[in-house]
Amino acid sequence: MNNPASIARTVGDTPQGGTVLGFYAPKGAPRPPRIARGEGIFLWDADGRRYLDATAGAVVANIGHGNPRVLAAMTEQAAKVSFAYPRFFESEHNIALADRVCALAGEGFDRAFFVSGGSEANEAALKLARQYAVVTGQGSRSKVISRDPSYHGSTLGALAVTGDANTLELYGPMIRAMPKVPAPLSYRVPQGHTAASHEMACADELEQAILREGPETVLAFILEPIGGLSTGAVVSSPAYFERVRQICDRHGVLVIYDEIMSGAGRTGAFLAAHHWPAARPDLVTLAKGLAAGYTPLGCLLAPDRIVDAVAGSGGFVHGHTYFTNPLSCAVAHAVVDEVIRQDLVTRARERGELLMARLRDIAARSPIVGDVRGKGLLTAIEIVADKSTRRQLPASFNAPARLTGHGLKRGIALYNRRANLGAFGDFQMITPPLTISESEIDTLAELLETSLADLADEIA
Ligand code: PLP
Repeated sequence: MNNPASIARTVGDTPQGGTVLGFYAPKGAPRPPRIARGEGIFLWDADGRRYLDATAGAVVANIGHGNPRVLAAMTEQAAKVSFAYPRFFESEHNIALADRVCALAGEGFDRAFFVSGGSEANEAALKLARQYAVVTGQGSRSKVISRDPSYHGSTLGALAVTGDANTLELYGPMIRAMPKVPAPLSYRVPQGHTAASHEMACADELEQAILREGPETVLAFILEPIGGLSTGAVVSSPAYFERVRQICDRHGVLVIYDEIMSGAGRTGAFLAAHHWPAARPDLVTLAKGLAAGYTPLGCLLAPDRIVDAVAGSGGFVHGHTYFTNPLSCAVAHAVVDEVIRQDLVTRARERGELLMARLRDIAARSPIVGDVRGKGLLTAIEIVADKSTRRQLPASFNAPARLTGHGLKRGIALYNRRANLGAFGDFQMITPPLTISESEIDTLAELLETSLADLADEIA
């Protein structure tokens, strides 16, 4: 019978039938806890078990769960109008949100283009850069150099610039994979290098790649200023960013910062780019923390000179049905208001220092935590088999996934994805909501340390 009640029963009764998880694991595989509700930095499953959300979902829930002001803004806008196509109608909150975000982003970021997520924001950045080159008489420029390892999203354009051998092996034949240069690492630097000399060598490899490809063919260089699951929160020095900027200026190459994870206040500045003011990028992409998980939203920030050149030549040849939609913009506007009202950017900086101190204490006691790094509340720990040699655990062991499993049993939600099959280290992001209190940081540290001890026992 095809009536709604029987459909609902069939879907609900079939293990993973009709759910997105059915695309990740075969039917009958163990299922994760079922989420029931969230409040502040905590989540509860359908069985009433509580989890401290130590990674803000996937580095998303910056203002915590269940914020009443954001929920009120959401229902208010939904009751007024939840959708109107932005090519035909502008919306109050789109304008207000763009003004707010551009003001927070500061000089050089005059215009904001809103989409539905991070991958879409990067697609928009790549296409705006290309269109700008064409309308300014540089039509030979189409290559976008990126770093290895890196993560820029799941759509095919974003994958072309993602430095992940695993996904490129699978999808590479479907796309034009773009040239890659090494991303500087800090814990696993190549032999004969210090972290500082390695950074400079990486920057120089960018210039060599531009020269090799032909500078007149290179459109842009895209990088995560502080990586997430690609490098595990590696923070490079100002000298690296400044050298990258100089090289790109020398060859007329645009610099794009993918701040989908690092932006919206997470690192203790609204943009991570603000930490290196002498090396400002041309374009920045945001998502995740900008609407903090209350609605899907991504954003491309651009200067007037680029947007006006494109807009004056017929307009940006790009768009999605849901770009700039009024509901997402109203919700993100309320989220950004909360970031300002609670001064969460400063909070991220201060609480980040406390969290890093706790993580360093844990590393000093734990036999398997080899490194602690990050900025603000974008931090990571690296798990090793041997701290003195920095030897990794076997790939087949998949330490981050196991740690996540132990965490769930202990009541702490962690976020892992074994980027590049662990080729650059096994790390776990520790990125709680920016609203986390000092005592909640202590609770996080206790739960994490117990989960790490469970993992260490499993290894021993
Ligand atoms: N870029 C970075 C640095 C990310 O961390 C992510 C997501 O994790 C993306 C892009 C893709 O964003 P989305 O998953 O919203 O498409």
